[in-house]
Amino acid sequence: MRTTTLTIRRPFDAHVHLRTGSTLRAVTPCTTARFGRAVIMPNTEPPIETVAQAALYKKEILSAVPSGQSFDPLMTLYLTKNLTPADIEKGATHDVCKIYGVKSYPFGATTNSQYGFRSILEAKDIVRTLEETGIPLLLHGEVHVNEQGEAEDPYDGERLFIADTLPRLLESYPKLKISLEHITTIEAIEFMEKNGESGKLVATVTPHHLLYDRRHAFSGGYRALLHCKPLVKRHEDRERLRDMMKKGFPFVYAGTDSAPHPESKKFSSCCAFGVFNAPAAVELYAHVFDDIGALNKLEDFLSVNGPRFFGLAPDIDTIKLEKKDWHITEPIVTDEGTRIFPIYHAIHGLGNEVMRWKIA
Ligand SMILES: [Zn+2]
Repeated sequence: MRTTTLTIRRPFDAHVHLRTGSTLRAVTPCTTARFGRAVIMPNTEPPIETVAQAALYKKEILSAVPSGQSFDPLMTLYLTKNLTPADIEKGATHDVCKIYGVKSYPFGATTNSQYGFRSILEAKDIVRTLEETGIPLLLHGEVHVNEQGEAEDPYDGERLFIADTLPRLLESYPKLKISLEHITTIEAIEFMEKNGESGKLVATVTPHHLLYDRRHAFSGGYRALLHCKPLVKRHEDRERLRDMMKKGFPFVYAGTDSAPHPESKKFSSCCAFGVFNAPAAVELYAHVFDDIGALNKLEDFLSVNGPRFFGLAPDIDTIKLEKKDWHITEPIVTDEGTRIFPIYHAIHGLGNEVMRWKIA
């Protein structure tokens, strides 16, 4: 029998960018309409480097949650040269603003990443403190600049990280909790299938890397809405990622990496990195899982495996999804009049975007 409705526990987004100010006010309700909790990325301008900054940022997020909705933002710190072990220790047990992760970006990789270490292996005191406190290290696992300071091929960044940096990190810090964010390549998938371990070494997967490959990114000119780090990869990589979803590993789960940019930055000659998927993230995951015949794995992926890694129980509340075609035709507009276009947009997308699942 064909499944036409699904009730699952309220989803958990393990990776979202909400920005600040008018963008935050515009995009936060898209996330809170779908997710009960989310791990909030700290690459704001300026970056979140202290527990005090994280506490203020948490307040700003909570003030943008529509009334009548509950939402728990799980705060993180940005691994920069200003971050201190003492502050991480404070964050481990803070009662108002507990810190759920420290995010490491590769040097030169993505929005506001210029403050980081050249390699995570250089941040020894910080990583040791994470290992001791049990706070997870959230890794954007790509090498963008090599030890000689030369730029690497952006299609090879994840492969290089998996082949060299990650094994060295695991060997040096055997108790460190690691989340490998937004995996995209066959190499990362194979590494995780071999070494992944619930509560210890986990990976997040975005909707856009499950939906698209680089043929889509280059179809009829370069598609700005698909421009993100890590880049969408080859068809074989995407197929392998979809295949991984069917296996229902307890150490793999949703992290949307929804990353809004204003229209002016997204559709410029040097378009900003980041896919804004919050207005349809849960629906897009359902769409893909239906496509590959894995709807029975969707709830664990969206709502169970993520909280478990962070030591939390799944949400008590549920959401209902129904099988119904719809599409996105409008951008999100901020209170300053700035337009932000989501992925899967019927005009700026590839032209054939019909989502098969809708939140009831
Ligand atoms: Zn991200």
